[in-house]
Amino acid sequence: MRPDLAAIARQEQFLEVVDRNEAMRRFLAAIEPEPLPAESVALLDGLGRVLADDIAAPVDAPPFDRSVVDGFALRAVDTVGASEAAPKRLILNGEVLACGVVARIEVEPGTATVIATGAALPRGADAVVLVEETEIEEMDAATVLVLRRPAAPGQFIGSAGSDSARGESLLRAGTTIGAREVAQLAAVGIDRVAVVRRPVVAVLSTGDELVAPGAVLRPGAIYDANGAAVAATVIENGGVALPFGIVGDDADALTAAMERALEAADLVVLSGGTSKGAGDLSTRVIARLGSPGILVHGVALKPGKPLCLAKVRGKPLVVLPGFPTSALFTFHSFVVPVIRTLAGLGARREAQVEAVLPARLASERGRSEFVMVSLVERPAGGLAAVPTAKGSGAVTAFTQADGFVEVPALTTGLEAGTPVSVRLFDAAGRAPDLVVAGSHCLGLDVVAGHLARRGLATRILALGSAAGLAAARRGECDLAPVHLFDAATGRYNTPFLVPGLGLIPGWRRMQGVVFRPGDARFEGREAAEAIAAALADPAIVMVNRNPGSGTRALIDARLGAVRPKGWWNQPKSHNAVAAAVARGSADWGVSIRTVADLYGLGFLPLAEEHYDFVSVEARASHPAVAAFRDALAGPAVRTRLAALGLEPAGS
Ligand code: AMP
Ligand code: MG
Repeated sequence: MRPDLAAIARQEQFLEVVDRNEAMRRFLAAIEPEPLPAESVALLDGLGRVLADDIAAPVDAPPFDRSVVDGFALRAVDTVGASEAAPKRLILNGEVLACGVVARIEVEPGTATVIATGAALPRGADAVVLVEETEIEEMDAATVLVLRRPAAPGQFIGSAGSDSARGESLLRAGTTIGAREVAQLAAVGIDRVAVVRRPVVAVLSTGDELVAPGAVLRPGAIYDANGAAVAATVIENGGVALPFGIVGDDADALTAAMERALEAADLVVLSGGTSKGAGDLSTRVIARLGSPGILVHGVALKPGKPLCLAKVRGKPLVVLPGFPTSALFTFHSFVVPVIRTLAGLGARREAQVEAVLPARLASERGRSEFVMVSLVERPAGGLAAVPTAKGSGAVTAFTQADGFVEVPALTTGLEAGTPVSVRLFDAAGRAPDLVVAGSHCLGLDVVAGHLARRGLATRILALGSAAGLAAARRGECDLAPVHLFDAATGRYNTPFLVPGLGLIPGWRRMQGVVFRPGDARFEGREAAEAIAAALADPAIVMVNRNPGSGTRALIDARLGAVRPKGWWNQPKSHNAVAAAVARGSADWGVSIRTVADLYGLGFLPLAEEHYDFVSVEARASHPAVAAFRDALAGPAVRTRLAALGLEPAGS
């Protein structure tokens, strides 16, 4: 059947886009989450779980009066007046009280009993004296204890119930059980605990294009990132993830999968199929499943607008947007709080730090926007929040960012220097030892890898040469890798230095035209000649680079004002250029030889460029910067760079 193109192009609208607070209010009002009922588990299985009830001590701890030192149990009154000049003498009654021994002999006036730490106090005794503060004399048939100072009543005695008395409340409902709580419970003889049942969360991914990680990627397919990411987040927040895998864009299959999921779980989370494109049918399927159905579809958020919140068969059902960052942001904002409530956990503890924006941050008016940022130290003190986002389709931003900034819905942008609060992903996260901001190169990974094996963490912000140089000028990085050609002087990089910046020579790398091997339009030609021919042939598509990159400067110098087909495709990396050519969406682009080799592409050398490191002199003495210099100069790194086709400076 021919697809109904008109219907696809029209696209149904979102029901109604609502503000995020209103969305959450509607969701909570409909599902009324509260901690799930308790289940009883063995004490050790309770580790990490949440106590369902208050726990009172079933017995006294300690269960009897005991000595807390090695010494002698006696009656304090018998020691009154003891001194160096007039010692008191008590007769040892012959009993030795070790731990676990029950006394048979009462401590009568004028006597004492040998007692060990932790042993039960004998009847009659009301104090213990330290063995170190006594002497022993053998007299006639008796062994006599000599005391040269008086004992206070109650000294060195731990009385029954002094740790916790029977009936005393020990732990409160809602406490997460850790090793200390286990100790407390074991000490009063408890071997099973009532804990809140963990919410079971069914996790489904939908999309005909999805393939499970580990399987072979067929053309046009992508790996299912959301399934694993959502499941991991469920587990991190006290739930049990029930993976349902991938379901294609098929209404019947999706309906069947959702029905099974609703049957098996307390909450169902689906990702994909919620934006308004062809084949997006998650929301239509929900409508079939019963009332009240969809509560919210469309939230004024970026990323995350197509979020859908529903309640079906008494259970919460959420459809997350397909893009992984959108999926995880909306999952954290709207679903994690519900899972934590069901699990009996309090709100996630979130750390926040203050920072300033180093450059203007544009934002769309009308939607709350989450922008992922990396934190770097500023020379004047304090932190700068450098956006790392690459658009909602990118997952790498998550691992490169320290946290995120929320730009309010009614703002169109924040100016450079604006103070912002950064919500940290990981409150315990460690700051990098070295911040490298600028142009990316595979060789940089070699150096960073070398440092990592020596315990130094490098944060690489792939901003491009120009933005890296700007960050270095502001003192917001240690090093800025650049490959900037200055047409006026014909030199690389040095003409761009200003006072306060130095240059560490990096390596040379060959830039050139990449093309698919066997393409006769390029094969065997000179680069300049091939480019000229390509510009003259309207059938040939190029792939460009992003403005501000050194490679783009090289391309601009060759193209002048010409805008050939494909010029607007401006990816941010050498690899992305090679990937576009390799898969045939472009016929040529400019990349480095190392990457051309990696992708099995043909290569026509264009220019040998200098990839060097602008160093911020104020930070040049930092140990990590010194280690970076040493690594660059050392044989291990130089050999590996050479193997990548990069020529280390000075070689
Ligand atoms: P959708 O919401 O289905 O329109 O998907 C929006 C975008 O997210 C598309 O580029 C999908 O290929 C992508 N996407 C959907 N589901 C996943 C997933 N589970 N993992 C990674 N990307 C996904
Ligand atoms: Mg889809």
